Amino acid sequence: MKAELTKKFSEIYGQEPTQHYFTPGRVNLIGEHIDYNGGLVMPCAVTLGTWLVLAPNNEKVIRFKSLNFEEEATIELKPSYTKTGPEWFNYPLGVFNELLKDHDIPTGLDLLFYGDIPIGSGLSSSASIEVVMAYALNDYFNLGLERIQIPLLAQKVENEFIGVNCGIMDQFAVAFGEANKAIVLNCDTLKYKIVDCNLGDYLLAIINTNKPRKLAESKYNERVAECKTALSELNQEITLNNLCELNSEKFALHSHLISDETVLKRATHVIKENDRVNLAAKALNDGNLPEFGRLMYASHQSLKDLYEVTGAELDAVVEFCNDYEHVIGARMTGAGFGGCAIALLKKGQEEDFAKKLTDFYVDRIGYPAAIYISEIGNGASAI
Ligand code: ADP
Ligand code: MG
Repeated sequence: MKAELTKKFSEIYGQEPTQHYFTPGRVNLIGEHIDYNGGLVMPCAVTLGTWLVLAPNNEKVIRFKSLNFEEEATIELKPSYTKTGPEWFNYPLGVFNELLKDHDIPTGLDLLFYGDIPIGSGLSSSASIEVVMAYALNDYFNLGLERIQIPLLAQKVENEFIGVNCGIMDQFAVAFGEANKAIVLNCDTLKYKIVDCNLGDYLLAIINTNKPRKLAESKYNERVAECKTALSELNQEITLNNLCELNSEKFALHSHLISDETVLKRATHVIKENDRVNLAAKALNDGNLPEFGRLMYASHQSLKDLYEVTGAELDAVVEFCNDYEHVIGARMTGAGFGGCAIALLKKGQEEDFAKKLTDFYVDRIGYPAAIYISEIGNGASAI
């Protein structure tokens, strides 16, 4: 890939690139709809992601080009920027804007991006492009950012410049992921542990349902509001900042305070899912991959029945996986209502899996899903 991108860069810009960087996308292995409830999530970096190849120019401009999009831009180097519109280059432009508040960018740059990760499907290509840009500028200009500042800055760009109200998980995972490790991250305190996640004979299959995520935003906001309602009702008796301060046993003592049946279902998912992350970390620690897989299925079931964020497409994928003998665990990943599912698939079965799943899915849903094979990879780096 490096050689191909070098060649492309030279064709486009008429000069050789001086730097190459890569930042992965991420999947959340377990712990879904937990980040805004102050609990535990378990993301890992994947081996698909975003490349950035660059060289300085003498014209005091930033040139943005992506092999994934037609739009391109040449923007003068200025002390600050505002969002130009919906174009993709606002993601890296927002990183410049944020960094320019405290740092000097001394020269113009020619930039070429390329992502082999599905874009807009819940694998966090947005965090990937933000972090690769921040990592590259910090590295190339020796800006001296502390490690944690990179994901925090990238999150700020997504929240304030782009206007998407995401938590820290995605930027954190793509910056700090490690091969064959998962991150157990407390979304409230930002304390985290890197844990061994040796998949042994298994791979990560990532299945993009290809369902347009039309409802995603409004339904997501609805779930956030429902969790808030649960929290304020529980706070009649106890003092909580987040739902995930309760484990299942403590929750059972106070759940009668939640008046609405739907809200009770949502809160029950959150509490149990948070418990499942602890159980999943223990399963990994014990090297018990089948138990980990079982928890993935349980997570999906809860997201389907209690949280109601799956939909026919994600359910079809997980139903297929459940019946397929070479998968030991599967679940939706991301916010749901479309997007991607992940499965732990036995090595060597990739082709058979793809063929049978495609037949099943087309028959059930009417159009194909896209299947990607990945391992657990490393976070942001120069390459
Ligand atoms: P997700 O993060 O789930 O992939 P988002 O909608 O949050 O989806 O972010 C996708 C957006 O990020 C794209 O529409 C584009 O603006 C930007 N982006 C991601 N990867 C690239 C890339 N390789 N080149 C250009 N823009 C990209
Ligand atoms: Mg995103």
